[in-house]
Amino acid sequence: MSASSLLAQTNFHTLVTNGPAANRLNLVFLAEGYTSNQFNLFFTHATNTANILLSNSPFAEYRSYFNVFAIAVASAQSGSDRPVDGITRNTYFNSTYGNGVTVREELISIPPNWTNGNYSQGQGKVDNLLQTFMPATDLAIMLVNDLNLGGSDGAGKVAITSIAPNSLSDIPVHESGHVLANLGDEYTTPNPGYPDTEEPNTTRETNRALIKWNAWITPDTPIPTPPTFDYQEVVGLFEGAHYNATGWYRPKLNCRMGSLGVPFCEVCREALVLSFYRNVRLVDSFSPANTNLAISTPDLVQFALTTLQPIGHTLTVQWLTNGIPIATATNTTLTVSPASLNNGVNVVAAQISDPTPFVRTDPQNHLRQTVSWTVNVSLPALELSAPRWLNPNQFAFRISGVAPQGFAIQTSTNLTDWASVATNFLVNGQFDYTNQAGANPSARLFRAVTPPR
Ligand SMILES: [Zn+2]
Repeated sequence: MSASSLLAQTNFHTLVTNGPAANRLNLVFLAEGYTSNQFNLFFTHATNTANILLSNSPFAEYRSYFNVFAIAVASAQSGSDRPVDGITRNTYFNSTYGNGVTVREELISIPPNWTNGNYSQGQGKVDNLLQTFMPATDLAIMLVNDLNLGGSDGAGKVAITSIAPNSLSDIPVHESGHVLANLGDEYTTPNPGYPDTEEPNTTRETNRALIKWNAWITPDTPIPTPPTFDYQEVVGLFEGAHYNATGWYRPKLNCRMGSLGVPFCEVCREALVLSFYRNVRLVDSFSPANTNLAISTPDLVQFALTTLQPIGHTLTVQWLTNGIPIATATNTTLTVSPASLNNGVNVVAAQISDPTPFVRTDPQNHLRQTVSWTVNVSLPALELSAPRWLNPNQFAFRISGVAPQGFAIQTSTNLTDWASVATNFLVNGQFDYTNQAGANPSARLFRAVTPPR
């Protein structure tokens, strides 16, 4: 199908915009089993499903990181295939319930699958649509317009859910855990042929020190952890996960990845937050946009960040000059006097981090970002200016420039012998010196001297 004919039959809607697609989690809904006169119904379903998904922790705390879009494509008929009931429907992505082997009628899949191995008749259409309308998609959810419970993680590429109320309240949340964070199922029922690969929330490791979620296990929790009331609220090592009743372990007695209707466990929640930060950075933009600055005047320089804004907590900011934190500089803006820097190369930096308690282990530093500017300062070391009489016996002049170690005012009558009469520091690159009346009765020369660097 050509791009233009695809466009002609496709209705692309923006449902929620929280920022630039380049630095947001872009959630895209796809319509399966909706006829062309059911597009408004699809947009309503998409809006409602986004609201359900984004009200679950940790999506809720990062709801502002998401944009939401909907791509409506028309199917000839409503619904989906249900081979067990002898039902077939002519739909755009050729979805079907079941898996043809065991009694898993709640599984919905698209080609290539057990009924149709042709990628271009299912997943290929998903890939084309996303590439055309939202190449920066982070999470795609296919809404299947069928009232029978069902869904799947679409081979890890697209979360699939039917629009049955019990599906919408749970399946998009669970399947998004698979697609976004590569979480594993914490089910204990057999699933022959399922790959043996461990996920962030499943393991065969029973050595406490080597358990990947050890940071969440307190020393008084036994390993393995008994599946009893006493331990139902703690993270431990509970046997039964990854479609195995024995030999595989999960972090918590109950979790969204094992049971519908319960929250994600701490380990799955951590993996989801890390997955958010694999797709967005903490800083949307900064100024000056040029990170190599050459400065030759003492005018103040403004630095500023635009950061993301999670819900319920704020990101932390710390500014530094030449590697040294500035005590009070913890806002998103910083004003710097070039005279307070060294002549030559300086580094002004902002370290931004997310202090969320949801993440205890972040080896890749996904929750931190540093923005730094190289600031090359070339100011005249010291300059005397604005000489003026205050009264017949007292006069003043201004010292300006760069003197981080302070300066001395010296006087001489012969340009050979110099004596210091005052020492001080520049404030914002300048200082006004007043000569005391009567202190220097005869004509003198004045100079300002900085200590050697
Ligand atoms: Zn979990």
